[in-house]
Amino acid sequence: LRKNLPCSRPLFAESFNRLLSTQTGRKLQDKVALITGGASGIGKAAATKFINNGAIVIIADIQQQLGQETAKELGPNATFITCDVTKESDISDAVDFSVSEYKQLDIMYNNAGIPCKTPPSIVNLDLELFDKVMEINVRGVMAGIKHATRVMIPRGTGSILCTASVTGVIGGMAQHTYSVSKFAVIGIVKSLASELSGHGIRVNCISPFAIPTPFVMNEMDQIYPHLDSQRLVEIVRNVGVLKGANCEPNDIANAALYLASDDARYISGHNLVVDGGFTSFKNLEF
Ligand code: NAD
Repeated sequence: LRKNLPCSRPLFAESFNRLLSTQTGRKLQDKVALITGGASGIGKAAATKFINNGAIVIIADIQQQLGQETAKELGPNATFITCDVTKESDISDAVDFSVSEYKQLDIMYNNAGIPCKTPPSIVNLDLELFDKVMEINVRGVMAGIKHATRVMIPRGTGSILCTASVTGVIGGMAQHTYSVSKFAVIGIVKSLASELSGHGIRVNCISPFAIPTPFVMNEMDQIYPHLDSQRLVEIVRNVGVLKGANCEPNDIANAALYLASDDARYISGHNLVVDGGFTSFKNLEF
C-alpha cells in the first residue's frame, strides 16, 4: 500500500507514514537520508541505525570500494554514490541523485571529516594543511547544507546533522587546526538554525569525544606503536569519564537517530555532546 501511494497526495502520504512509524516503532519510516563519510566509522553506524528505523540511506563517500561494500552489507535500502565533499559538483550530484531516485531528501548528515596532526605550537603551523582540513571539515559541511537546503526549502521540511567534536567545545587539546575546524562546524549550526527554522528545517550537530573508528585508531597506532590494536581500542573506549560505558560508533548513531527524527522536532541549533562526561570535568588532564 505504501509503495502505491500517489505522489500527488503528499499530505496523505505524510500522515500515513507517521501512522506507520508509530505502529512499527521505526523512527525514520520512509525518510531519505544522505550521509557523507558514510562508508566507515560513525557514518556507517548511523547508516545502519537509520535503515533499521525504516530509512533509505545514500552513502556519499570518497572511498569508492569501501562505500560499495558498505552499501552491499547494509542491504537494499542503502545506495552508494562517490562523493568528495571538497567538490561542490559531487555534493550537488549526490543531492540531485536523492531527488531523482527517491523524490526527496529528508535528512542530510554532514559527517565526513579528517583528523589532523599539527605541531603543538602555532609558530610551526602548516597553513597548507590548515587549508586542506578546512576544505573538508568546514567548506564540505557548508556545501552539504547549501545543496540540501536547495531541495528542502521548497518542501518546507528537513533535518540537517553535522559531526563536530569535543575539540570544538573546549580548546587546548593540542590539535589547533582540527579544533578550529570543529569550532567552525558548531558555528555553522548556530548560525544557520535561525534562517532555516523559518523554512521548517532543523540543523543540529553532535560532538563526540574519542570513538574507536579508523580515524582515531590510525592515530593511536602511530602514537603507541608498541601496543596491540585490542589494547588501543580499550584505551579509546575508556577515555570518557563514564566508567563501564565503553563508547562505540553506535553511541553517536543513537544521538543522530534522535536528532534526525521527529522526537527532536523542537530542537534546532543544538550541539549534542556525547563524551561520557569528559567536557564536564574541568581539571581533567589530557
Ligand atoms: P572514519 O575515518 O571511520 O570515517 C570518515 C569517513 O569520511 C571515511 O569513510 C572517509 O572516506 C570519509 N571522507 C574523508 N574525506 C572525505 C571527503 N573529502 N569526501 C567524502 N568523504 C570523505 O572516521 P569517523 O571517526 O567515523 O569520523 C566521522 C566524523 O566524526 C568526522 O567528521 C570526525 O571529525 C568526527 N569525529 C570523530 C571522532 C572519533 O573519535 N572517531 C571524534 C570526534 C569527531
